[in-house]
Amino acid sequence: MAQQPPPIQTGAQLIAHSLKSLDVRIIFGIVGIPVIEVAEACLALGIKFVSFRNEQAASYAASAYGYLTGRPGVCLVVGGPGVLHAMAGVGNSMINATYPLLLLAGSAETAAGPTKGAFQQLDAVSLLAPHTKFAVRPPSLEDLPHSIRDAYRFAFYGRPGVGFVDLPADFIQGVPTEVIQVERVEPQPRILGDEQRVLAVAQALRSAQRPLIVIGKGAAYARSEGILREFIDATKFPFLPTPQGKGVLPDNHPLNTSSARSTALAGADVVLLIGARLNWILHFGQPPKWSPGVCIAQIDICAEELDRGSADPSLSILGDITSVMTQLLPHLSNYQPPSSAWSTTLAASAAKNTAIAQRKASTVTHPLTYHRTFTLIKDTLEALSPGGADNLVYVSEGANTMDISRSIFPVSSPRHRLDAGTYATMGVGLGYAIAAEMAYNHTREATAPSTHVRKRIISLEGDSAIGFSLPEIETMSRYRLPIIIFVINNGGVYHGISDNSPTWGTEHWDVDKDGKRKDVLLTSTALGFETGYDVVAQGLGGRGWRVADEKALAQAVKEAWEHRDGPSLINVIITSGAGGELEFAWLGKGKGRSKL
Ligand code: ADP
Repeated sequence: MAQQPPPIQTGAQLIAHSLKSLDVRIIFGIVGIPVIEVAEACLALGIKFVSFRNEQAASYAASAYGYLTGRPGVCLVVGGPGVLHAMAGVGNSMINATYPLLLLAGSAETAAGPTKGAFQQLDAVSLLAPHTKFAVRPPSLEDLPHSIRDAYRFAFYGRPGVGFVDLPADFIQGVPTEVIQVERVEPQPRILGDEQRVLAVAQALRSAQRPLIVIGKGAAYARSEGILREFIDATKFPFLPTPQGKGVLPDNHPLNTSSARSTALAGADVVLLIGARLNWILHFGQPPKWSPGVCIAQIDICAEELDRGSADPSLSILGDITSVMTQLLPHLSNYQPPSSAWSTTLAASAAKNTAIAQRKASTVTHPLTYHRTFTLIKDTLEALSPGGADNLVYVSEGANTMDISRSIFPVSSPRHRLDAGTYATMGVGLGYAIAAEMAYNHTREATAPSTHVRKRIISLEGDSAIGFSLPEIETMSRYRLPIIIFVINNGGVYHGISDNSPTWGTEHWDVDKDGKRKDVLLTSTALGFETGYDVVAQGLGGRGWRVADEKALAQAVKEAWEHRDGPSLINVIITSGAGGELEFAWLGKGKGRSKL
């Protein structure tokens, strides 16, 4: 016989029941007074609670979970400093426009008024209102369910972003006089595009000599992979994915122009931008990266995004990508590409760039370079993974690590690659990896029920980037998450320690080839190159390896793959300089020469 849920006796239970009614399956956060009861009430209802070490990582994780599942991720934190730390995830969610987040935070009891100086008191609603889509303190304890549902709905209706609910301590601990049960929020109604504009975009594409389709992470979030596949296969338009648009169509699709990115952008005369903004990632749609007279059509769910920058206002379509592409396809189903000149140009450029990349990937070096390291990791992982690349989900952060790995690791499925995103936020990596592990393997909200296959989450981290969230390895250990982390260690930010770095004359320590400490000049980009990230991982309950050559790297990847009871971290010592070939003493005793 099914067990009856316990009666609702406290505000904490009312909050938990409201989240359950909204079909929330997991919450990311950190508890403290007064939200412990909320987390415990959620656990009692079978909602998972993933307890982090810093609210920053928890809020990043919740928003990434929202991106991967299409429903808001939920983050629960304490008031005051908890909210301040979670602001990082709030900003990141809003700027990424596809990372819906419901933030719940405790706060001082209502009787404290705004200025009494109560424990962790902060006027969080005033703070967050300008940075969220909706921020509210419920007018009463009984109104909690409505407020939570509204904030949840705001987070993913329209352009995804943040809904915030402030939870005063007396509401959490109080006894509700009335219990309102809220309804689940259904996915937002599909928004169709203006038919006249759809026709105009079809005509513009038909008239193009050098058409190009740009696929952004909005298309991944909108789950438009099916219709986009049909569209590209029918029209044979070349397409270019943005960094997180990768995988909406498989990277190995013959019409993917990623290997000819610069040629495609500079040469295209008519571009259809699908779920991507003309921001820095796309060079604002302006010369010199784009052709001066290019005509840019756009599909976006956000009206304010249209008619911005260099997009053609008459070809801007407000609507949901899947709906609008379904409208557009019949207008172009009998389309014939104008000439082969454009595809020949793109193919020649792709061939040239691929040859350069292949040369870098196959050149055996000591010390290791970015290209060689990533190639080895990719080849070893794909050989070990039963489903090959399909069962690998990549998270990537760190300027060079993210940039260089992007073209080396192929992605064949949508939402299988997360990176630092629109804000280029360093510190998202481990939170995102935990979110991916939960979405794909624990709640399985990110995959259709019929296709539940275990995915392996791979986190590619620069040695600077991992520093922002290192303690979350303990979170991974506690929940026994078999995430494999690679620290691509070049000894600092960007090029790390390099002969070319300008120095500031600050003294720092280094170890010479005899193991003696010596003073060296500390650049602004230098970090502790001997940092034992692998040792830290072991101390936090995971496994760790420090490798500096190909054989050791391949062996460590195999051993990490076999470790399924918690995280693995491989600290890969590579050459300093962005892909350069410099040698430094820090690669190991007597293995190089220091010029510092
Ligand atoms: P990228 O980082 O891939 O360049 P951006 O973050 O710049 O992508 O752009 C994503 C865009 O997708 C945002 O402008 C957002 O409003 C839009 N978007 C999100 N969901 C949808 C949807 N369902 N339909 C249409 N556009 C969407």
